[in-house]
Amino acid sequence: AIPLVVAINTSLAARNGMLIRDRIAMEEARNLDAIIFDKTGTLTEGEHGVVDMATVDDIEEDEALALAAAVEGDSEHMIARAIRQAADEREISAPDADEFEAMKGRGVRATVNGNEVYVGGPNLLNHLDSDIPPALRTFADEAGKNAHTVVYLVREGDLIAAFAMADVIREESYRVVDALHDLNIEVAMLTGDSRDVANAVADELGIDTVFAEVLPEDKDEKVQELQDQDKLVAMVGDGVNDAPALTRADVGIAIGSGTDVAVQSADVILVQNNPMDVVRLVKLSKASYRKMK
Ligand code: ADP
Ligand code: MG
Repeated sequence: AIPLVVAINTSLAARNGMLIRDRIAMEEARNLDAIIFDKTGTLTEGEHGVVDMATVDDIEEDEALALAAAVEGDSEHMIARAIRQAADEREISAPDADEFEAMKGRGVRATVNGNEVYVGGPNLLNHLDSDIPPALRTFADEAGKNAHTVVYLVREGDLIAAFAMADVIREESYRVVDALHDLNIEVAMLTGDSRDVANAVADELGIDTVFAEVLPEDKDEKVQELQDQDKLVAMVGDGVNDAPALTRADVGIAIGSGTDVAVQSADVILVQNNPMDVVRLVKLSKASYRKMK
């Protein structure tokens, strides 16, 4: 038999800000069972600001902030920017740091005044085998309940301060989850952020499945996990970290300006940074291929 191929109207897609790199994936979009969203910058604005901090007894807040800003001096991450900005706002100047090292999905490391200093989240603490001291536990719990991302400052093996940062859920995200549920599509969220923050965002939005504290190199396994349940899965992300998951997904969707790596790993590129375009994509696929069996 001659396969019936209905060409998707690519100019219609393009007019809606969708660039199709792989037509097969576009065709599959109508049959999706689950869509996994990257949290930060996709479902949330991704613009963190430091809202609160705490230190252990013998450490001054300004001293901790200066040290953290020094370690974050070389990083482009939104968390780094927020910490540097908080230091600026208090007119604190950061000491010199060198031997900067970015630890993907965990945090950053540098040498300051001969000390080895780290700033990072729960994945960093796991990596360093470092525990949250009792003095900071309440702070961390409280921050988690408020859906604040917490990062920690570790100097020479001692966890000496914690910073709470706020991100906000994007207005569109609520409608996206509802619309996908109406289409009988499971909505999942994937993030390197803490379980607390991830659960708070998921509860707020009504997200079905949460993968939190996932390291960049493990993100694609979470896509596989849903595929192993016989689901046809799309992944939506923007970061370098998301590239392997975009490749693994049945439909890889890069959103926003995206990084080059994300764009090259994706089947579809959503030009505008609007998660609602994911819903439009599914609907366009359904409309275009409706008559195919
Ligand atoms: P996501 O998976 O949400 O896109 P990332 O993989 O970029 O997030 O980062 C995951 C986690 O790693 C962050 O929530 C934070 O705890 C930690 N992290 C990453 N980069 C930094 C940094 N520059 N400073 C502090 N913590 C960081
Ligand atoms: Mg990201």
